[in-house]
Amino acid sequence: MLGPPGSGKGTHATIISKEFSIPVIASGEIFRDIIRRDGPLAEKIKGYVLKGELVPDEITIKIIMDRLEMPDCEKGFVLDGFPRNLRQAEALTRWLEKKGLSVDLAIYLKVNKEELIRRLSSRRICEKCGAIYHLIFNPPKNDEICDICGGHLYQREDDKEEVVKRRLEVYERESSQLIEYYAKRGVLREVDGTGTIEDVQKRIKAILNCFRKELASDLNDGYINRNE
Ligand code: AMP
Repeated sequence: MLGPPGSGKGTHATIISKEFSIPVIASGEIFRDIIRRDGPLAEKIKGYVLKGELVPDEITIKIIMDRLEMPDCEKGFVLDGFPRNLRQAEALTRWLEKKGLSVDLAIYLKVNKEELIRRLSSRRICEKCGAIYHLIFNPPKNDEICDICGGHLYQREDDKEEVVKRRLEVYERESSQLIEYYAKRGVLREVDGTGTIEDVQKRIKAILNCFRKELASDLNDGYINRNE
C-alpha cells in the first residue's frame, strides 16, 4: 500500500488481508511494538518515530526482511508503510527476486494534504487490537472504547499536529519517488482515497477483481507457475 500518512493504508490493508487471508506487515506497527517492549533497539528507534523521521534503512530493512521470512508470509502479504524510499524498494525487489517473486500490485491511495491533517489529528487507535477510528467520520460507539474488543483508544504521539506536518514533509521528500518506481514496473494502481471507507474499499475491490482475472488468465496461459 502506497500513500501519505493518513491516506488509509492501514485500514485498507486490513480489509485486503482478510479478503486474501494473508497477513498485513505494517512497519510503523512493528516499530511501535518494539518501542512498547523496551530494550536496546527500542531506544534507537524511538527518537526517529517520535520526531516523524524515518528509522534508518539498515535497521528497517533488516527488521522487515526478517518478518517476511516468517511462515505466515509464505502465501503472500500486504505491506503497509514499507517500502518508504527507493533504497527500501530496491531491497524488497532483491529479496523477492531471490525467491522468484515480484510485487503484484502497488495500490497508491491519493488524498490531499488538508484532508490528511484533518484525518490524522482525530485518529484514535485501539491499544489492544489495533482497530483504527476517526472521532468524526468513524467514531467508536462509546468514547475512548474499542467497539470490537473493548480496549482503550489512544492517540499516537506522532499524530499530534507538529509531528504530522513533519511526517508529511518526509513523505514528500522520500516516498513520492516510489510512485514512479512501481509505475515503471507496471504494477501501480492509483486510487482516489477520499470519501468513506466503503467508497474507497469499492474502488480497491474493482482493482483486486481485475488482478484476480489477470492472474487466472496468466495461469491458464501457462505464463506463471505458482504453487498454490
Ligand atoms: P506509520 O505507522 O506507517 O505512519 O509509521 C510511523 C513511524 O514509524 C514513521 O513516522 C517512521 O518514523 C517509522 N517508520 C514506519 N515505517 C518506516 C519505514 N519503512 N522506514 C523508516 N521508518 C519507518
